[in-house]
Amino acid sequence: MAENRKILLHVCCAPCGSACVERLLAEGREVILYFSNSNIDCKAEFDRRLSHVERLAGIFEVGLEIDPYRHDLWLEAVRGLESEPEKGRRCLKCFTWNLERAARRAAADGIAGFTTALTVSPQKNSRLIFETGRCRPGFEARDFKKRDGFRRSVELSAEFGFYRQNYCGCEFSLRQDSGRKQSPAADSSDFSNSPGSIPVKPMPRR
Ligand code: SF4
Repeated sequence: MAENRKILLHVCCAPCGSACVERLLAEGREVILYFSNSNIDCKAEFDRRLSHVERLAGIFEVGLEIDPYRHDLWLEAVRGLESEPEKGRRCLKCFTWNLERAARRAAADGIAGFTTALTVSPQKNSRLIFETGRCRPGFEARDFKKRDGFRRSVELSAEFGFYRQNYCGCEFSLRQDSGRKQSPAADSSDFSNSPGSIPVKPMPRR
């Protein structure tokens, strides 16, 4: 039974992940974060978001697994969809990419359930996420934006100083609003949208 408490939580960034981790822990789940984000346009941005997810794991004393950055493979997966608008077919393919990898990671680790923090963002269509997630065994369709999940993610990000990016992640989302990346200090994590375990130094629980 204890194994059923375990859940692998795909996280796109620390702000989105924060409210989801807090909620799952409050429900008595044992959470392992999974940072899979080959959709991000460059390694520097991938590393920046990861460094804050490492802090998140430390603060809440949960495990973290990292999917190696392979933007070249992600670009292949979305070929032909570059001009799609955000929330369109490219994004569905992107959700599928990350959820497929999360499903494989969970299965390889013997974790029965997995879900994603993507649903906390008002910029993400939870129905589309569920559509692709439900094709994979173990997927838990959790709409984290419900019950003020996004507002809570903003509060936790402010409390812990998490980096809140101002664009979703891929170069095509940047192109659609080229002004966003230039002003990271004024960003908004509405846009917060890969195997191996790494040790995380625990920080005092809140
Ligand atoms: S806009 Fe965001 S969700 Fe859509 S393809 Fe780009 S990174 Fe993925």
